[in-house]
Amino acid sequence: MVTEPTDSTAGLEEKEGAPVSFAETALRLGGKSEEEAQRTGAIDEADDQVERMFQPQYQTVNSPIHQAVWSRTLPVELFQSHDVETAENVQTVMDDSVTLVKEHRNQGTLLDSNNKISEAVLDDLGGVGYWGLLVGREYGGSGASFRSFAPFLTRMALVDGNIAGLASVHGCIGAVDPVRTFGSPEQKQRFLPGLARGERISGFALTEPGAGSDLTALKTRAERHGDHFLVNGEKLFITNAMPGRTIGLVCLVDDAPAVLICELPDEENDQVRFNKYGLYALKQQHNQGIIFKDFRVPLENLLQPSQGNGLTIAYHGLNLGRVALIANSAASMRIMMAGMLPWADYRVTYGEKIAQRELVRRRLGRLAGLIVACDALVAWGSELIDQGYRGEMECIIAKIFGSEMQKEAAIELCMKTHGGRSFLHGHLIGDNIHEYLAPCIYEGEGEMLGMAFFKSLVKDHGKRYFEPVGKALQSAGIKKPNMLNPLHLWALKGALVPYSGWMASQYLWPRSWSQLPAMPESLKQHAMFAIDQLQKSSKQISGAMRKHQLKLADRQCRMSELSTRVQSMVVMLCTSLYAARQQDQVVVDAADVLCQQITLELTGRRPPDRFYRDITRLGETITDGGFTSLAGIESDEILMNY
Ligand SMILES: Cc1cc2nc3c(=O)[nH]c(=O)nc-3n(C[C@H](O)[C@H](O)[C@H](O)COP(=O)(O)OP(=O)(O)OC[C@H]3O[C@@H](n4cnc5c(N)ncnc54)[C@H](O)[C@@H]3O)c2cc1C
Repeated sequence: MVTEPTDSTAGLEEKEGAPVSFAETALRLGGKSEEEAQRTGAIDEADDQVERMFQPQYQTVNSPIHQAVWSRTLPVELFQSHDVETAENVQTVMDDSVTLVKEHRNQGTLLDSNNKISEAVLDDLGGVGYWGLLVGREYGGSGASFRSFAPFLTRMALVDGNIAGLASVHGCIGAVDPVRTFGSPEQKQRFLPGLARGERISGFALTEPGAGSDLTALKTRAERHGDHFLVNGEKLFITNAMPGRTIGLVCLVDDAPAVLICELPDEENDQVRFNKYGLYALKQQHNQGIIFKDFRVPLENLLQPSQGNGLTIAYHGLNLGRVALIANSAASMRIMMAGMLPWADYRVTYGEKIAQRELVRRRLGRLAGLIVACDALVAWGSELIDQGYRGEMECIIAKIFGSEMQKEAAIELCMKTHGGRSFLHGHLIGDNIHEYLAPCIYEGEGEMLGMAFFKSLVKDHGKRYFEPVGKALQSAGIKKPNMLNPLHLWALKGALVPYSGWMASQYLWPRSWSQLPAMPESLKQHAMFAIDQLQKSSKQISGAMRKHQLKLADRQCRMSELSTRVQSMVVMLCTSLYAARQQDQVVVDAADVLCQQITLELTGRRPPDRFYRDITRLGETITDGGFTSLAGIESDEILMNY
């Protein structure tokens, strides 16, 4: 049982350390241009600095996934989430917020005349404490743990996904997390109470027209003039950017990325202009570009982390945002399922309801598995953050799985089941398709994140065993090593010893895992398979590193493939452990079919009949009302009924 209060700044440590960027060294040794080596090195250095903020036991090398792949013993308990006990004051805020949004929805007052969430709703939410959930009680918030906050977003998103999304924009990636985690006591005192009341709800301004995936290309700059900065530059795609809001602005200060907390003026003016464009996604929120021209920001609004810089701050908040994102997906997929059921029961083709058909039942079974996996990753990721883990790889999995599966659910499962009606105005899919797709891009595009995941996973192994080899080759002037050439072998003799030792240990000593909890047999088999695969993946990954050596950074397809496989194994382990502690047999069955599917993907085998029997039987149970967590979700009316 996880109890309040815990917070996502737990585990942070202030520590000195001389930064050495492995990525930069590797790229330089691999013959990349000085510019690319330096730019990648800057990102890698920001990553190292985030790392040093955490106590050793919470750093990436000791994270659940890193240990699962590289350690001799896989710590099963680190993949196991627990029930959460939400503090009474937090529960009240959550209940009041949901009630309030439902009331506005029922009265038709959620949206303003521009079809955006109305200011009155945002104000009312401030009144019940919604915006202060992640702010400590000493600053007027309710101090919710992240483990309570994340699944609450699923609950809120069942009522309104945009309002749930805004809580993450404000609390995770917006100004709240940067200030509460990196602000000085004075900055916390100055900003947090207002942010908790929602007087100026916040957003985060990182992306620029020329800097999205490549954050080293940031151009927006703040220069000191007396007691303030003058900001010049342009931001793009900023959610919640509008007059009167607060933003965490990532810009260059003294040539390094930094975060300024900026209170945007109440009216557009010569210093701050908004670049308005039509955007298909987040259509009920304000997402605009911002153009700064000599915009004055007080010097004391600069956040100064004891380690790192503005990217450090951005990475920290993005981790929370990524778990929040999958929490929203868990709700969207439930809403999709709730809409598929009455339709499948209504639609008759060839004399039979489509709910009776295997294809439709298979889709429902698949969707149930995806929902359970999302719930599992929400519980797991948020608990790790509260425990103090950095959680970068774990949160990346949450974000990629949540966004990619929401896309699959929308297109492969929901759209196909609704047929042509999916494209009618007023249909869930037609009206929201961009909302369902955009998470694949915002907070980092999935495949780019998958590569970042892989780089984090191999960084320590590379530094430990491959960097010495690269350096030995460089100093011997060898560009292409040939292990049959005695001169090359001689040049590498010292550098190869540690790696040879690691390889030998992989073959000589069997690996183990800590004890599995009591689990239904089917789930136990899945957990064991995932553990076995995770442990075997170290040799596969190391093999790719050995094969491609310093060119591995260019082998993006291989990195992406290996990354995706490890991610799937982690989803499987977490989902089987999560489902094993649920009382509901349908949840267990849903986890079982999802894990069966992952096994088939990982092994490349054709689905046996048993799998189709299991997944369609699950679909049948769902059509009979067996998926209880859909309770209370209202589905849209059937369009073009006949
Ligand atoms: C609805 C929405 C809301 C958003 N909200 C915010 C917000 O609140 N704040 C904010 O700061 N940003 C926000 N963004 C921006 C978002 O985070 C970026 O769009 C995203 O990070 C990708 O950046 P980009 O669009 O510039 O893609 P680009 O950098 O143009 O990249 C496009 C694609 O090129 C490929 N690519 C790029 N580099 C490489 C490489 N090295 N190797 C291989 N492939 C590569 C990848 O597939 C990548 O996705 C939002 C975006 C959207 C759509």
